[in-house]
Amino acid sequence: MRLVFLGAPGVGKGTQAERIAARFRHPKISTGDILREAVRNQTSLGLEAKACMDQGKLVPDAVVVGIVKEKLAEPSCAGGFLLDGFPRTVKQAEELAVVLKTQGQRLDQVVNFTVSREEVVRRLSGRRSCPKCGAVFHVDSAPPKQAGICDRCGAGLVQRNDDRKETVEARLSVYEEQTAPLIAYYRQRDALSEVDGSGSIDEVHARLLDLLAARGLA
Ligand code: AMP
Repeated sequence: MRLVFLGAPGVGKGTQAERIAARFRHPKISTGDILREAVRNQTSLGLEAKACMDQGKLVPDAVVVGIVKEKLAEPSCAGGFLLDGFPRTVKQAEELAVVLKTQGQRLDQVVNFTVSREEVVRRLSGRRSCPKCGAVFHVDSAPPKQAGICDRCGAGLVQRNDDRKETVEARLSVYEEQTAPLIAYYRQRDALSEVDGSGSIDEVHARLLDLLAARGLA
């Protein structure tokens, strides 16, 4: 199973990728998570990426392509993988195709999650993340058992810098301009499926499993 999860920020693709990865025991490659970890650890990658991320802009293609290339070369990805938040530009998609081709692989499916802009803003503004283990909550729809505390590891939850209202608008514009064209790109290559991302996490998950089963992937 070689999948790409596509969609606007806040659409729920990371949450669904996490579940699918656990269920099918495939590695989830989330460029956003990798970059945030680099920022936390103040590596040179993190220092380079931080300014772009804080402004809601994309990190340069060459940087993220390098990250993904390295990951895909790991033996754990040989049997399948899930890409979450990559590719985000047509250039990245083209580079991914080249990398996969040289490994004798191709994508099985690109899943595009859709929700209204209003719902995306609601989800992002209420999202709270664990800086330690990466678990994600929502103040209304997926609250932690104890307010502000991670259920999984007990650390204090935070709002991501780029989930603040000012940055959310910038991220949505970047998505429309640079990432939305990938929908047409993959549709032309007969690789695209759409999943309605509205409703609960379980509802979306059930739709996704149905889709994967219909494509003979699950
Ligand atoms: P995410 O967690 O996927 O919303 O990503 C958070 C931020 O990381 C984005 O707003 C970008 O600044 C950066 N980022 C993540 N993935 C990519 C990518 N594929 N290309 C460029 N920048 C990325």
